[in-house]
Amino acid sequence: MPGLKVNEPLKSHTTFHIGGPAAYFAAVPGREALCALQKLSVAEHIPLLVIGRGSNILFRDKGYAGIVATLEDSFTQIVWDESGDCTVHAGAGASLARLVNEAADRGYGGLAGCGGIPGTVGGAVFGNAGTNGGWIGDCVTEVVVLTSAGEIQHRGRELLQFSYRSSNLQGTVVMAVHFSLKKIVKNDSVIEQIRAMAERRKDTQPLGDRSAGCVFKNPPGDSAGRLIDFCGLKGLQVGGARVSDKHANFIVNTGTAASGDVEQLIGLIREKVKMQFGIELALEIEIV
Ligand SMILES: Cc1cc2nc3c(=O)[nH]c(=O)nc-3n(C[C@H](O)[C@H](O)[C@H](O)COP(=O)(O)OP(=O)(O)OC[C@H]3O[C@@H](n4cnc5c(N)ncnc54)[C@H](O)[C@@H]3O)c2cc1C
Repeated sequence: MPGLKVNEPLKSHTTFHIGGPAAYFAAVPGREALCALQKLSVAEHIPLLVIGRGSNILFRDKGYAGIVATLEDSFTQIVWDESGDCTVHAGAGASLARLVNEAADRGYGGLAGCGGIPGTVGGAVFGNAGTNGGWIGDCVTEVVVLTSAGEIQHRGRELLQFSYRSSNLQGTVVMAVHFSLKKIVKNDSVIEQIRAMAERRKDTQPLGDRSAGCVFKNPPGDSAGRLIDFCGLKGLQVGGARVSDKHANFIVNTGTAASGDVEQLIGLIREKVKMQFGIELALEIEIV
């Protein structure tokens, strides 16, 4: 298949900057190429994993024995239809930050809670990204997916389920997402909300470091960061992986971290939190 790279280092495709080689890697330019790649993966029995910007993934150092693909070019388009109620059609490979900022500039609310989250629209919808200020799934009206059987389906709201950092889109490739947004009377307030959130992130998160965001989901009614901090684990280090001094739910790659360092650190954190509070922390990041 043209354009397929062999033994592509996955650390170049994640915000952790960790991960061994993908047997094959493709930057897919459009729907036709994606469908062809999926057919190839089925015919050759090679698993296909579509990722966004790798901002929620820890790839292991042994790499991925299959095809890893990103969605580029025509998948990065964002088309606004403001003739009636505002509808936005975004390709799954489009930057989430660009979508959030364009919505704010046009005076639409709904996506401000996703301000400052790295990654793509596809990755965000797949994992229902967001904050207490709002979750992306709340604004989604339709998702266009490629199923594992090679069928393109338009799944309307009634077929979609979103919950805390999860959706029912597993097993599909998200190709495009339609959103419905509401005009805000005072549009400055959306821009202000995004700016305030960005400031707060700068103050509370290690944004300059290599990480994949929060490692653990918040248990019901509590915050994983608070529990880890209470156990005195900020600054705990295994190899090149360290619990951030700024935010206890972030593990940062100090430069030379192996995936095993991060996994060991995850194990230690879970053990301590379980001993101290009797709570089993669930992973928010995905280990591949
Ligand atoms: C500094 C920092 C701060 C963060 N803050 C937040 C936050 O406040 N809230 C939050 O929710 N998250 C946060 N994250 C985590 C992460 O940015 C989000 O989960 C983001 O939505 C992941 O998008 P991505 O495109 O990078 O997906 P990836 O990490 O590349 O992929 C994540 C999962 O989605 C799947 N996927 C990606 N694209 C597609 C597609 N088109 N079709 C099917 N499956 C797909 C992948 O296979 C994988 O399973 C943060 C991360 C960092 C580094």
